[in-house]
Amino acid sequence: MPKLMPVAHVDKTKYTGKKLNVALVGLGRYAAILADGLQASAYCKLAGVVTGHPEKGEAWKKQYNLADKNIYNYSNFDSIDHNPDIDVVYIVLPNSMHKEYTIRAAKGGKHVICEKPMALNAADCEEMITACKNAGVQLAIGYRLHYEPYNLELKRLGQEKVFGQVRLIEASLGYRTTDPGEWRLKKALAGGGPLMNVGIYCVQSSRYVSGEEPTSVTAQFGPVTDNKLFNEVEASIIWQLDFPGGLVSNCTSTYACGVDRFFASADYGQFELSPGISYGPFKGKTSNGELKFPDINQQAAQMDGIGKLILENKPLPSHIAGEEGLKDMKVIDAIYKAAATGERIMLA
Ligand code: NDP
Repeated sequence: MPKLMPVAHVDKTKYTGKKLNVALVGLGRYAAILADGLQASAYCKLAGVVTGHPEKGEAWKKQYNLADKNIYNYSNFDSIDHNPDIDVVYIVLPNSMHKEYTIRAAKGGKHVICEKPMALNAADCEEMITACKNAGVQLAIGYRLHYEPYNLELKRLGQEKVFGQVRLIEASLGYRTTDPGEWRLKKALAGGGPLMNVGIYCVQSSRYVSGEEPTSVTAQFGPVTDNKLFNEVEASIIWQLDFPGGLVSNCTSTYACGVDRFFASADYGQFELSPGISYGPFKGKTSNGELKFPDINQQAAQMDGIGKLILENKPLPSHIAGEEGLKDMKVIDAIYKAAATGERIMLA
């Protein structure tokens, strides 16, 4: 693991010194990575956990010096509304549980950060946004790449048309899955296969590099590489997004093999990252040469970006708020519909 740079963009000029107290819900693999990020965060700290396993609660309490009253399970979670020591609830559960726990946290008066994919479909995302608005709390989606320097550069190169209009994007993300017990292979928990889990990053990068929303989508399911593993969700999916400015984005997400690459070709040049979506270190180049940025702690950067705004009582920008999760989910709903029907699905 390379040594990560400190988070560079933190501006402490308006900071009062209070850290935002965060409770993580669901103590799995990504929660452990977020806990490390919270340790490195200038504006947030891990203050509580919600878990279905008391022994995990006990271990986390010791490791992170958490107060007894800040350890919850899924049944007593709603009593968090009486706990002034928790400001933000961060949902790191299987996808099908995001909606329920977002709405319960909002009803408890807590700001919410919800992991990607925001929910199982766009209608559920809309319910979550409404619940948070009604409760007067903020809702963010855990889109860590919005704070990551290589991806911020992709966004700049595309949106500022540094090489002219982007005409073609090729984005692929996948890894080989072999564990039949993984919840990501169960439709009821995951909502879908690699598209829900990792393809969402290809949808995201296509949207933030173009700065536009796609107008139509076509899609195809890839081959079923293992009948036992892929009997509920797709093994692979390939899709094409058309954008109003004249860009076509060809994307693939898969559980059959490893891939992590983004490539864009514009009128006068090209830019690419590979790898560029995982936790880093990243590698990239443009027609002008190699891209070189610090490898940051992405989770700390994300927590600082969100935490500072909440502490200052400022609204979160739409590109990290629930609205962004909803936009992605509308595209994902259309991709699944296009693959199932074989038809071009219009989005605008
Ligand atoms: P894990 O399977 O590692 O952890 C999920 C946790 O959820 C479990 O450990 C468990 O915690 C809890 N849980 C509650 N009910 C269930 C259930 N029925 N089945 C399985 N787990 C259950 O998943 P990840 O941490 O990898 O993913 C969690 C979420 O985070 C997903 O939505 C995923 O998309 C997202 N994610 C985001 C990443 C990013 O880079 N932004 C990276 C990885 C994941 P407990 O035992 O404490 O109850």
